[in-house]
Amino acid sequence: MKNILFLEPVFKSMIWGGNKLETKFGYSIPSDHTGECWAISAHKNGDCTIKNGPYEGKTLSWLWDNHRELFGNSQEEIFPLLIKIIDAKSDLSIQVHPDDEYARTRENGSLGKTECWYILECDEDAKIVIGHNAKDKEELKEMIAQKRWQDLIRLRPIKKGDFFQINPGTVHAIKGGTMILETQQSSDITYRLYDYDRLDNGKPRELHIDKSIDVIQCPHVDVEVGGNSLGDEAYHMEELIKCKYYTVKKISLHGEKEFDQNQPFLNVSVIEGSGEIDGTALKKGDHFILPSDYGTYQLKGNMDLIVSHI
Ligand code: ZN
Repeated sequence: MKNILFLEPVFKSMIWGGNKLETKFGYSIPSDHTGECWAISAHKNGDCTIKNGPYEGKTLSWLWDNHRELFGNSQEEIFPLLIKIIDAKSDLSIQVHPDDEYARTRENGSLGKTECWYILECDEDAKIVIGHNAKDKEELKEMIAQKRWQDLIRLRPIKKGDFFQINPGTVHAIKGGTMILETQQSSDITYRLYDYDRLDNGKPRELHIDKSIDVIQCPHVDVEVGGNSLGDEAYHMEELIKCKYYTVKKISLHGEKEFDQNQPFLNVSVIEGSGEIDGTALKKGDHFILPSDYGTYQLKGNMDLIVSHI
């Protein structure tokens, strides 16, 4: 039996969040400062529920633990990926993530965090923080101690459809007026380097300067993204990134096309338009997993999808 596993997202209110997850994606959100939609996640801080079929009502972590055959009998201890949509109404803090090695020893065996961003939409003249200008750790420490944030932080302009890979050790921040789809390792470990001296309920949020300095890569090196693309009159498929942890692709469909699911499992997010998969209706904001044994599937319609696999 062919089962598509549709998921019920988990929403997170954040001081920097807005209401676009409702106005642009049609979700019913918990507050007008909802920052994150955890769309495909089995993380303990936000475990998605299966919406349909024989596993309706079960969490994705339960499914991973009890029906590993659906995921190609993957040996990973936890469901390894986490797909989020982020609505940043105001700037997020400037942060950095550790790698697996550092997180394992310093964060109770957690995974490190490699992540990537697909820009869903952004204000005109929007920018994002990726990288820094310190040539080595000494200069990094000095610039941080002297609070020379403007000199330290690298800003770059963005537009809809841009894509960035954020390796562990990369200084980064999403700025206000930006919505992104994030594909990441299933980890929630973030070191906050600078929070624009903002107050949250009268107090600054905690910073993690020492751990940040430990893990920040010096000097910063940009990661090249983009890969093969192929298509015909019905579709265009483009590889956005392939790294140790995930492969992410974008499919733009305008018509009808058959594909083969030959991965342990395939995460799919509809980011624009609508259509069908094997006769089941799809719309912007839907997220689902095609399990290991799914085989061929037919997509139909006018829509953009972000797909990922390990
Ligand atoms: Zn991050």
